[in-house]
Amino acid sequence: MIWFRPPSHLRRVFRASLVALRAAALACLATAPLLALMANRALAEPVFAFASTPGKLPKTVVPTHYALDLAPDLDKLTFAGSEVVDIDVMEPTARLVLNAVDIAIATAAVDGDAASEVVLDAAAQTVTLAFPRPIAAGRHQLRMSFTGRINRFGRGLFMVDYPAADGRKRMISSHLEPADARRIFPGWDEPAFKATFALTVTVPQAFLAVSNMPVAHEEPAGGETKRVAFQTTPRMSSYLFVLSAGDLERTTADTGGVTIGVVAARGKAAQGRYALDTAVDLLRYFNDYFGIAYPLPKLDLIAVPGGFGGAMENWGGITFFESRLLFDPATSAGEARRGIFNIIAHEMAHQWFGDLVTMAWWDNIWLNEGFASWMQAKSAEALHPDWQTWLNGSGFKQAAMSEDARRTTHPIQQPIANETAAMAAFDSITYAKGQALIRMVENYLGEEAFRAGMRAYMKQHAYGSTTTADLWGALQAASGKPVAAIAAAYTEQGGVPLVVAQATCAGDAQRITLRQERFTIHDPAPTPQRWQVPVSRSAPGGGPGETVLLDGATEIAAGRCGDAVKFNRDDVGYYRVQYDAAMLAALTRSIHKLGPADRASLIGDTWALVEAGRAAPATFFDLVERLIGDDNRAVTDQIIRPLTRIDHLQWGRPERAAFQAYGRAVLRPLFDRIGWDAAAAEPADHVLLRTRLIGVLGGFGDDAIVTEAKRRFAAFVNDPASLSPELRGTVTYLAGRHADRATYDTLLALGRKTINTAERVRYYSAVASARDPALAAETLAIALTDELPTTLLGTLISQVASQGEHRDLAWNFVKANFATLAAKQGPSFQNNFPANLMTNFTDAAHAAELADFAPAHATPGGRIVAARSYERIMTDADFSAQQLPAVDEWVKRRMGRQ
Ligand SMILES: [Zn+2]
Repeated sequence: MIWFRPPSHLRRVFRASLVALRAAALACLATAPLLALMANRALAEPVFAFASTPGKLPKTVVPTHYALDLAPDLDKLTFAGSEVVDIDVMEPTARLVLNAVDIAIATAAVDGDAASEVVLDAAAQTVTLAFPRPIAAGRHQLRMSFTGRINRFGRGLFMVDYPAADGRKRMISSHLEPADARRIFPGWDEPAFKATFALTVTVPQAFLAVSNMPVAHEEPAGGETKRVAFQTTPRMSSYLFVLSAGDLERTTADTGGVTIGVVAARGKAAQGRYALDTAVDLLRYFNDYFGIAYPLPKLDLIAVPGGFGGAMENWGGITFFESRLLFDPATSAGEARRGIFNIIAHEMAHQWFGDLVTMAWWDNIWLNEGFASWMQAKSAEALHPDWQTWLNGSGFKQAAMSEDARRTTHPIQQPIANETAAMAAFDSITYAKGQALIRMVENYLGEEAFRAGMRAYMKQHAYGSTTTADLWGALQAASGKPVAAIAAAYTEQGGVPLVVAQATCAGDAQRITLRQERFTIHDPAPTPQRWQVPVSRSAPGGGPGETVLLDGATEIAAGRCGDAVKFNRDDVGYYRVQYDAAMLAALTRSIHKLGPADRASLIGDTWALVEAGRAAPATFFDLVERLIGDDNRAVTDQIIRPLTRIDHLQWGRPERAAFQAYGRAVLRPLFDRIGWDAAAAEPADHVLLRTRLIGVLGGFGDDAIVTEAKRRFAAFVNDPASLSPELRGTVTYLAGRHADRATYDTLLALGRKTINTAERVRYYSAVASARDPALAAETLAIALTDELPTTLLGTLISQVASQGEHRDLAWNFVKANFATLAAKQGPSFQNNFPANLMTNFTDAAHAAELADFAPAHATPGGRIVAARSYERIMTDADFSAQQLPAVDEWVKRRMGRQ
């Protein structure tokens, strides 16, 4: 699953962090005894066993097959359903407990004997069926009929109204992860209860209905409707079920005996060409990598123009927010291609890792998401090496390490109490730390051994369930290395290792002591932790040194006295490095001899140490001075992130103007080289660097940039062809940010007119970025209408707060209209939205307000999100108090020198 991410020029500020603990005594650890030591470390988690898998449903009744019949009514937004479930009863029982939410049950019977009592428990999301006499052990059939609701908020079965060339249309689709299958049919809605599914659905005759499997047959069903029966799925978890239906069209390509389809609103199928070609390439790649051919006869990629912002890996029928899948060469920027590839790769990797082999419970959701995130980068490196996906994605790891340094972090593997807590687990720790850990493990084992382990794992657990211990077991068997002992420290405890490097000279020879601490922020008394850190190194201009497994501390020889040494070679490892002053000075002097990944990781670590209060802001700024004009996108990104974060902390301060002038002084030289228009033979990344720089410089008040953006936007309105697709996002954003009444009205009219979802998102984002408070208030009022799909409303409000810089206006609006917004946007709104919106504030008073904001604390998942946001606001507040004066001072001296 992937959630909505705003376009890169709108991405705000990531926050890193800090503090530390004393580490262990020096011990020079040779490899052999170290391995023996690690092999002895006991693992907490056992391999998969059904009976001991967490969850709320009794494990003594197990479904094996669902025959489902659904008849949605798109006008009344209800559906009627019936099901026959084959169940295995392990021991005699007079009660069946299964999941159901917002479902009214009309009849329930086992082998023809009606239930004597049907009790729905809304809080537990269960239904208990009581029978007059016990059901004997053995195989039975449960028959039920029921009705349910089609909602507007993207969970369970939902509807989307969208604009089409011939008027407004309505379609339905489903989104069930982690636990919303129970909104469509009563069932055993926990991932370890795998079963086969055979769906029949009644829909309007003109509709195309898509589910996990191909259509088995269709027949007229009276009136204007038809009944569509789908083939039976393989054994799978209930959260992978899918149903989409509407005025849709499908284009297909056949490869390796599998039909790949792109399904989109009628008239848009041609925009699925890039997705279709990409999926064909990826299917070949994954079939080979996993050693098991994709097991279903078809795979559909379904574009849904609302309902949710990301994508979901339903087996055989992946759903995507429309603009994440479709590509229109006339209006889409090149960046969209990379995004589409990445999201398809992620969801297709899940067809094996997640769908074929599934984590037994949500405490191991990282197995799904960390792996799919890793595979999306790996497959991109294999099929599009020129994109440099690992390098350009280094910000994701930086963001995860920031979150992982805070007190509210959590282990990758964590107990999950219920459904709302499972939702909260879909965070950057699960995705990005999981991804980084798998990369580090692959690097440590070697590509071949790692892949052999993966193939064995797939073969052994196909159609089954696993825990993390099963994966480590397979990798260990394939590599002969103690994977579990190393990896468990990263999955079973939260936190980031900090490697502290200190150099000494013995005559002409340099020796470096390495020790580890826990890297934290805003946490005066963190739990001490220890890892086996695979510490790699490179010397500028020299080859790689050996990798040391750092347990407590060690000392290594490192060339001649004063030689620059960079640890975490190529930024593969999940740890930070702190160098002593002399080592950092040597590295800074020779930074241009480092590769781009090493430059980016050095600057990322340096900034993080500033955030931790372990280094003065000047150490970071001195490094930035050396990198002015560096045209590597990943390096520039590591400079822009801290600058935009500081700019956010400067909101409302008189020192902001000077800081923005400094930001312009840092970034302008590079932009002047790259310019507004593409050079004939420029590197591919310059296209993306250009739009990023324009957005940031415009945000930093670069008048020339803003004026030119306005001019280009005005020209675009008269002649759309005058503005290249590459620049449309950033130019439209700046036009919106600096919009007067006329420009605002133009943007809104464009947003209302287009039937292209990507354009729609672009125009409404620009509208929401307006700095003019009167216009911002008008934008917020849109959130109370039915103008946009409900799932885009949160984005609209968030952008008013962040891009428009109207956080008070947005927050007051949300408080004043809380009940209306919550009713429109469903249960996730209250759990996530207020707490996330509040992170636009950076002061203790608003942190306190969040702590007292009762709706955010109503569920366990809501409390998790609120605690994280509280921590983040307080971290910002403390950083502002402790470090901003030094930042201001440095900027004053630097700009005075100019
Ligand atoms: Zn995913």
